[in-house]
Amino acid sequence: MDSSVAEQVRNLLSVPRKIVITSHVNPDGDAVGSSLGLFWFLSGLGHEVHVIIPNSFPNFLIWMPGCDQILHHKDQLQLSKEHIASADLIFCLDFNALNRLDMLEEAVRSSSALKVLIDHHVQPVQEFDHIISVVETSSTSEIIFDFITSFDKPHLIDKRIAECIYAGIMTDTGSFSYSCNYEHTFAIVASLIALGIDVEHIHRLVYDTYTESRMRLLGFSLSEKLKVLNQYHTAYISLTKQELRRFKHQIGDTEGIVNYALSVRGINLAILLMEREKYIRLSFRSKGNFSVNELARRYFNGGGHRNAAGGNSYLGMEKTLGQIHDLLPAIKDQLDY
Ligand code: 5GP
Ligand code: MN
Repeated sequence: MDSSVAEQVRNLLSVPRKIVITSHVNPDGDAVGSSLGLFWFLSGLGHEVHVIIPNSFPNFLIWMPGCDQILHHKDQLQLSKEHIASADLIFCLDFNALNRLDMLEEAVRSSSALKVLIDHHVQPVQEFDHIISVVETSSTSEIIFDFITSFDKPHLIDKRIAECIYAGIMTDTGSFSYSCNYEHTFAIVASLIALGIDVEHIHRLVYDTYTESRMRLLGFSLSEKLKVLNQYHTAYISLTKQELRRFKHQIGDTEGIVNYALSVRGINLAILLMEREKYIRLSFRSKGNFSVNELARRYFNGGGHRNAAGGNSYLGMEKTLGQIHDLLPAIKDQLDY
């Protein structure tokens, strides 16, 4: 963490402020965990704090302390706009470009509040007043833990905060299977356990909550929709609107499906394509050196990390799949390791 930027941000917080904390559209465990962890800490410091997310978050996060206080911009438009317009400071967590706020982008852009980015994605866009960007880390939640620890007010860091931070780290590392080969990540986990969290319980709350239809959607995706292209070390799963409807798709239900495609032996690139109302949403995962961040940036209006990225296509499902098939011969050699 850049300690001089962190110090500037701490100084901004030395008098009571009106603060908004926000995160990316379709927030995941790290987005919600880091936001609520920071929310509790800044509230404890005496600031007026609101967490505002663009749309709703997945059901497997509703146990998180403070979840019920989150404003959903999509449903609480007026209140959300008022808080954003009157804020002194807006914390932008777990994304690296304002367009990731989707329906919230314009309100944040036009607010006169100072904007502070705290994030771990590569290549943050220089459109924030202060940027704390750490790429070599497990998650934004880990950076938030370091940031709040740097205030030297340990009495304000309690079990609620620890639960939110742990959930963020756990979900962003696929339960400690990637992006976590850091001593520091595990040192933080040790501190969180010292604060009283129950890691088994949190794991169950997040992962053992599938609805029957979500489990069947996973089964269908693997048995009927998985395409394995061994010659390109690539596997993909495409899901149409009708298929998602058939399995009563809820936000968050497709989370994790792409990782199964990557678990196939010899596969180094996995793609999940989901048909939404007006576009195709893509999730990319890779093993090793191949950068899905670059792939998503170059061809699919997206980005993310080297081994996990997302993007959108406006060509429809058939043409998007055609585009992928056309791309594969050119990147085949980069995927052969
Ligand atoms: P997911 O596939 O889980 O939606 O996203 C994987 C990673 O890429 C996440 O860290 C997410 O924040 C990032 N990501 C997803 N979509 C986009 C996008 O459109 N633009 C950028 N810059 N990052 C994205
Ligand atoms: Mn994250």
